[in-house]
Amino acid sequence: CGIVGAVGTTDVVGVLVQGLQRLEYRGYDSCGLAVHQGAPLADAAGRMAPVEAAARGLARARSTARVAELRAQVQAEGLRAATGIAHTRWATHGAPTTANAHPHVSHGPGVRAGERPARVALVHNGIIENHEALRAELQARGYVFESQTDTEVIAHLIDSLYDGDLLEAVRAATARLHGAYAIAVLHHDEPQRLVGARAGSPLVLGLGTAADGPAAHYVASDALALAGVTDRIVFLAEGDLVDVALGRYRIVGADGRALDSAARPVRTVQ
Ligand code: GLU
Repeated sequence: CGIVGAVGTTDVVGVLVQGLQRLEYRGYDSCGLAVHQGAPLADAAGRMAPVEAAARGLARARSTARVAELRAQVQAEGLRAATGIAHTRWATHGAPTTANAHPHVSHGPGVRAGERPARVALVHNGIIENHEALRAELQARGYVFESQTDTEVIAHLIDSLYDGDLLEAVRAATARLHGAYAIAVLHHDEPQRLVGARAGSPLVLGLGTAADGPAAHYVASDALALAGVTDRIVFLAEGDLVDVALGRYRIVGADGRALDSAARPVRTVQ
């Protein structure tokens, strides 16, 4: 139903939760977020905190209650990170349970949750029509499914296609999807990167500004989610993928070719 994502230098958990709260009026049955704790994190004064070895991977929190409960949960856990994705779900496939709430993750083939850190975390709006065929194919390759959603196949598919470049893996995966989607994806091996894609569901890119150092950039299913964060918005077109890194971004078409800024101009949205 709703998506918010961010790649920054300071803690983005507050921006993610606030973005979800701005999308609450659309309705939802559950919500969640995933952050990458391997990205360097600056405090409010701009001092970089060292990344602790034990906390270098993807971490996730989910709730079948309101976004306010998710906020309380992440505050209680002290979850802080400079890269993250968040979601409000309106279930289409699978009951509104915590296990079916997004983000969905992949630990790689033959691995169950808890046996090793997640490699891929993903949020999705829309419906994947060919999820059953993809699930059967991925299960045959050893992927263990933890939900009843159509969405989870995308996380495992991206993992199965990943070879060091998240944009390429997402592009190869989306080429195999039938249906409607807007997605935002994180990978364990790339702490300061977020890849988004859209076909049949909306997704925008939001460009932050910074007085010094690299600016944070955002994605959202609606520019409204970024109100008060940034008013500089790039509207992605059907079939676009967006590669968001710290302080820079790249939009590519489904054929993998980069689009210039005239093709996808930055607009000021009030
Ligand atoms: N089809 C997905 C699910 O049921 C996404 C639903 C949504 O757009 O929120 O989990």
